[in-house]
Amino acid sequence: MPVPKKRVGHSEQAHRRANWKATVPTMSVCPNCGAATLAHTMCGVCGFYKDRVVKERALATAGHDHHDHDHDHEGHDHD
Ligand SMILES: [Zn+2]
Repeated sequence: MPVPKKRVGHSEQAHRRANWKATVPTMSVCPNCGAATLAHTMCGVCGFYKDRVVKERALATAGHDHHDHDHDHEGHDHD
């Protein structure tokens, strides 16, 4: 297991950390709605990625509106 031989002084540490750079996220523009999105990522506004809509209404309505069957579960008269 590697262990540092000496304590690194503040100056040396600061010099090493001077090479750290914040990476600017690669942005691209959504071809569908024109919003700035992260590259290689589905558009957060319209859910568009690679010439098709991957996920519709990605941010708009995040509710579960999966009510597409109209059975009434009440009127079971077995008498
Ligand atoms: Zn979009």
